[in-house]
Amino acid sequence: MHALGSVPFGCTSCQGLTAPLPPRTRVRMTHRFSQRLDVVQPSATLAVSARAAALRAQGRTIYPFGVGEPDFDTPIHIRDAAKKALDAGATRYTAVTGTPELKKAIAASSAARRGAPCAPEQVVVGVGAKHSLFNLALALYEPGDEVICPAPYWVSYPEQVRLVGATAVCPETREEDGWLLTPETLQASLSPQTKAVILCTPSNPTGSAYGEKSLRALLEVLEAHDCWLVVDEIYADLVYDGFKQVSALTLAHRDGMKIRDRILVIDGVSKSYAMTGWRIGWSITPPAMAKALDVVQSQSTTNPAAVAQAAAVAALTGPQESIEAMRLRFAARRTRMVAGLGAIPGIRCRAPEGAFYAFADFRALLGKKAKNGPLTDDLAIATFLLEEAGCAAVPGSAFGAPGYLRFSYATSEENIDAGLAAAKAAVEKLG
Ligand code: PMP
Ligand code: GLU
Repeated sequence: MHALGSVPFGCTSCQGLTAPLPPRTRVRMTHRFSQRLDVVQPSATLAVSARAAALRAQGRTIYPFGVGEPDFDTPIHIRDAAKKALDAGATRYTAVTGTPELKKAIAASSAARRGAPCAPEQVVVGVGAKHSLFNLALALYEPGDEVICPAPYWVSYPEQVRLVGATAVCPETREEDGWLLTPETLQASLSPQTKAVILCTPSNPTGSAYGEKSLRALLEVLEAHDCWLVVDEIYADLVYDGFKQVSALTLAHRDGMKIRDRILVIDGVSKSYAMTGWRIGWSITPPAMAKALDVVQSQSTTNPAAVAQAAAVAALTGPQESIEAMRLRFAARRTRMVAGLGAIPGIRCRAPEGAFYAFADFRALLGKKAKNGPLTDDLAIATFLLEEAGCAAVPGSAFGAPGYLRFSYATSEENIDAGLAAAKAAVEKLG
């Protein structure tokens, strides 16, 4: 039976209840959602984008700084390859974990990029990287396990951990440390129950990224601890100002570290190739783990869409120039976004190393009075910016960092300039 006060979506007959249910009251089976939903929040990033779409449908001008999704079209050669693949019969089931062509292309691309051997048997292709992470959660975490998700974390990490009944441990990182987990904090967060540590570099939501020294220091701590390291490298192509992106797998192999057999890589085509809607992501794991993921996926989604897999083969094996072209556009937008946020009275924004997010400190606005009431927290600030300036941004508390707001700059320069000018004007009017 779900707890009162956490009425599940769609349970209309419960919505009028205001007092606790008397003990022993029987709730019809059809009115119960499973208890595992009581501890899980819906995705805040997707909720902001839905709210922005609703306001846009009412005719409002909304600046889309909410969801992290490239605004570019998927490169033409990838779309053409998909059209050809459809005509050639890519309309049927494929092997559960992906076509041999795609797994071969992923393995070759990973080996070249990370300088660590990768066999197709290590690859499991899922319906986006979010699904690949969820497969891992189902295959690995269980009640009693702790999974370390350093905050600020991407919204789905702790929620997926909770969804499968395990405990998310979220040590804080500090802006002064570039939002990087320090070896000391990692050491203090580990326990005999730690099943995995999830690192995202470059990070969603902060855009910060681990350089070789900071990453190596974490690997040394984990070398002595019997747990997995999940590294989400979906933004690895998007780094700026000459920052040198490095994979944990590269360092562990180069230096012959034991942890190399405990590193699980998450990657995909959504960000690098502007392919969010195609839903192709993957994990690279030791072969035994890949077999376990195959079992999970064979009883849930089966294979990702055959045509999308063909498109991903074209992305990985075709010309790569579009990545650099998009990266340069993101780099220019990043400069504008960081400068524009910094020009709002009281707001500070650190220049991020990568991804396409700026994570700004809005705490100076707390307590100010807006038309609809005082700005008591970052959710109120985000609502104020959406209603008064048309800026859709995600409140930092969704990422475990209250007082901050995440702005995606995966949108046009015009939107960035106009949106931030509107935000500045709205903030200047505050009492
Ligand atoms: N990891 C991170 C850090 C992300 O920002 C995203 C984007 N939603 C994903 C994984 C999942 O990407 P997708 O499911 O589109 O492949
Ligand atoms: N990664 C994106 C974001 O954080 C997409 C939304 C999602 O998948 O939750 O906004």
